[in-house]
Formats: sequence, structure tokens, C-alpha cells
Amino acid sequence: MSRHKLIFLIIAILASGFIATSVVSYQVSRMSIHNAIVDSTLPLSSDNIYSEIQKDLIRPIFVSSKMASDTFLRDWMLDGEQNIDKISRYLQEVQDQYGAFISFLVSGRTSNYYYGKGVLKQVRPNEERDAWYYRVRDMQVPYEINVDRDMAHADALTIFINYRVLDYDNQYLGAVGVGLTVDSVQKLISHYQDRFRRDVYFVDSSGLIRLSGSKHQVVGQNINQQPALAGIFQQVLNTAKDDIHGGSFQYEDAETKQLINIRYIPELQWYLFVGQDELEATSDIRQALQLNLLLCLVVTAIVVALTHVALRRYQDKLETMATTDTLTGLPNRRAFDVVIDVFLNENERARSTLAFILLDVDHFKSINDRLGHLGGDYVLTVVARIIKGNTRAADFICRWGGEEFLIAIKDCDEHNALLLAEKIRSAIENELIAYQGSQVAITASLGVGVGVARAGEKLEPVLERADKAMYAAKAAGRNQVQLGDSA
Ligand code: GH3
Ligand code: MG
Ligand code: MG
Repeated sequence: MSRHKLIFLIIAILASGFIATSVVSYQVSRMSIHNAIVDSTLPLSSDNIYSEIQKDLIRPIFVSSKMASDTFLRDWMLDGEQNIDKISRYLQEVQDQYGAFISFLVSGRTSNYYYGKGVLKQVRPNEERDAWYYRVRDMQVPYEINVDRDMAHADALTIFINYRVLDYDNQYLGAVGVGLTVDSVQKLISHYQDRFRRDVYFVDSSGLIRLSGSKHQVVGQNINQQPALAGIFQQVLNTAKDDIHGGSFQYEDAETKQLINIRYIPELQWYLFVGQDELEATSDIRQALQLNLLLCLVVTAIVVALTHVALRRYQDKLETMATTDTLTGLPNRRAFDVVIDVFLNENERARSTLAFILLDVDHFKSINDRLGHLGGDYVLTVVARIIKGNTRAADFICRWGGEEFLIAIKDCDEHNALLLAEKIRSAIENELIAYQGSQVAITASLGVGVGVARAGEKLEPVLERADKAMYAAKAAGRNQVQLGDSA
């Protein structure tokens, strides 16, 4: 396998492993957050809000019911509504004691609207603002909850609890009740909205948004205009018959994925919607996923870089090992095959002849016999050093095999090749090699072959000339240089 393939494989394995674990853990976290929101968070919020509403709304309902059945109030009306101070004080007392925004009484007989400061006005059947009163007068249930403008308080938006007052024979006397500003309920809802980052809003059975702490759901709009929500709401309205008032749902719109819990609030006859944007709720883990993936990328990059360097070094080492003779440190015959084409290319540019000198140590067998194999090895390192010492860096020297060395010289004619060969021969002859107490003198036979060779061409003719010349030198008595036949 090539290095690139290996690195690609490592990238593929690491990346797919990392991505798989990151994505799987993200999905698991996402699912558990989703389930937590659907199964507990939203229902719990809904429970909390409902109990808060009960605390905040049920009390005024209770107070209004007490007022409606108060014997003083009923007696005062039955006695002809004498002494307005008395009823004003009563109404002011209720208002102060229960922290209501306003408490009021409307008489069926006189149409007087009483409040803490006396008579505010008279209700009239054709007055649109008084429509509520006539509705309450004629309704079949004991009370209603109505969101309306409060005339006594600069038309502040108010939730009124309107209770019917009946006499001791269950005859209609008037309407009584308290009002609390929507502001306080709105504040409560906003509080939930801010604290839990959830959309909280109330919808009546027609789909009209009546109260909202949500930025997306505006009071006065109808949720039936939002197709996804409308479907869910319809479902809730349909199942409400089977006494299942609400439940958990999810829907998607353009940019969000909403999880929603709907609950019917019988006291208000409204539906409480508590929603949460799943994308927003899972933004933290998405950030974690991105960080994870970034880390994976970094780790993968580091591993790949390290692998690349290690492989490169290992390969270089292998290549060097494969092309270097360990004994002499010279390139070996394999290196010759690798390097010679480059060598020839360079020579070709010089448009000149190339010289090979083939050197064979004389009677090496007997040197081995005298000094032992290790001694013979040592002699070979000395010969290599002598050859190196007498050639230039541009020349290519290699251990051709056994005790044979090859020297390739660029841009070299017969004359210069012979001179160099002779220089090497005499250097070897003149070297006294000391090995383990004994001194050895050696000689070598050298053959010179000169010719023109181009890159890609077979070198055999030139090499063969050098080889033949070397054998000629042996045959002629060794320790000499011979020139091969010229081309
Ligand atoms: P000639 O003058 O004809 O070249 O005689 P020679 O003894 O050198 O003959 P030949 O070339 O046939 O023998 C080479 C010997 O070199 C044979 C082999 O045992 C020995 N030899 C080859 N490689 C090595 C080596 O790496 N180390 C040692 N110590 N000896 C080697
Ligand atoms: Mg030999
Ligand atoms: Mg020999």
C-alpha cells in the first residue's frame, strides 16, 4: 500500500469514527432533551403556571362569590339602595383587603354602577361598554371571567370576575365582582417566560389569544391563522369531549421546531399553551457537537501529520538501507540502478563521454585467509576510503559486489580516466594496512571503459569494456590499469 493510500485510510477511519461517535452522542442528548421537555419540563411548567393562576385568579373568584352571597350587600339592595356611603365603604374594604384592582356592584333595579368611591355611572343597554352587564344578567351560569377595559381606571386592561347577585328567592338583583389588572397576570406570565424561556399564552375556545407573554403569539391574534397550531388546537378541542383537556404536541414552522403543552383551564375557560423551541433548547449541545467535530478535525490532522512524518522517515530509512552498503557506507549496486539515469542525464547535457573504472582487489581470497573474514571486511573499508579520497564528489562510486568497486566519472575522456585509475591503483599499492598487529599490503586491478551513453540506454557496452579491461589487467599480472577497446 502506498503512503498516500495509508494516510487516506487513517483519515477515513479516524474521521468516520469521530464523526459517528459525535453524531450519535449528539442525537442521544438531543432525544433525551426532547423527551425531558415533552415528558416533564412542559407539563411541569404548565402545572406551575396553572397553580399560580389558581392562586391569582381563583382568589378573586372566591372573593366575588363571597360578595354575591353577602347578606349585607343583598339586604342593602333589597332595602332600596339607601345610604351609598355604606356600600362604597364595603366595596373599598373588599378592594383593599384582597388587593383587587377594583371591586364593583351594579344594581339591576337602578342600573347604578357602584365602586369604592360611590356611584361611577349608570349602565345603559345600548352602551357598547356596558354590554357585559346585560350578558351577565342573562347568563345561565353563576359567574364569568371577562377581560375588558376598566372605565374607573383610565380604561386599563382588566380581568373582571362578574358574579350574579340573587335575592333569597333566587331573583336577580344585580352583578358584583372584582377586577384585577391584566398587567399583574401579564407580569406573572412574563416571569415564567423569562425564567424558563418558554412561550406562555392563553387561548380561548375560538382560538383567540387572550393573554400572552410570548413574543411570537400576540394578544388579539387567532392561532387558527397558524396552520400547524390550528391543527393541534382542533385536535385538543375534539378530544376535550372525552375529558382529555390538552396534552403534549410538536410542530414545525419555517425556522423553529416547537414543542408544546396545552391544558384546559376550566376556571377561565381558556387553554393554557406552554411552548418551547426545541432548537433553542438544544443549542448548547449543538455547540458542543461543533466543538467536538472541531476537536476531531484537529486530532485527525495531528495524527495524520505525525503518521506522515513517521512514514516518511521510515520509508527514507528503508530506501537508504536498501541502497547503501552497510560495510563501506558506499552506495550499493541497487543504488547504481537508481542513480545512474540521473547521472546519465547530467552527462548528456554536458555532451561528453562517460568513464567507468572497475576495480577488483587482487588475491582477496588469500587476504581473507590471512586476516580472517573480518579482516577482509576491514580491508574493503580501507579500499573504499582510498577510492573516495582520490575521487571528487561529482563522481559516483559504488560497491559493485564482493571486493569489486565501480567508479563512474562524468565528462571524462580516456586520458583522464587512465590518470585517475592509475592514481587510485598506486594509492592502494602504497597503503600499508595495519590489522590486529599484522601489516598487509594489497594491490588491485583496474579496467577503464570510456564511451557515450544516454539516459534510458543500456550501459552494457561501456560497462563491458571496463569489465573486460579489468580481466585483462588480471591476466597481465594484476596491480595494473588496462583500457578497454574504444567504441
Ligand atoms: P583475483 O586476484 O583473481 O581477483 O583473486 P581473488 O582472490 O580476489 O578472486 P575472487 O574475486 O574470485 O575472490 C573474491 C573473494 O572475496 C571471494 C569471497 O570470499 C571474498 N569476498 C567477497 N565479498 C566479501 C566480503 O564482503 N568480505 C570478505 N571478507 N570477503 C569477501
Ligand atoms: Mg572479484
Ligand atoms: Mg579479486
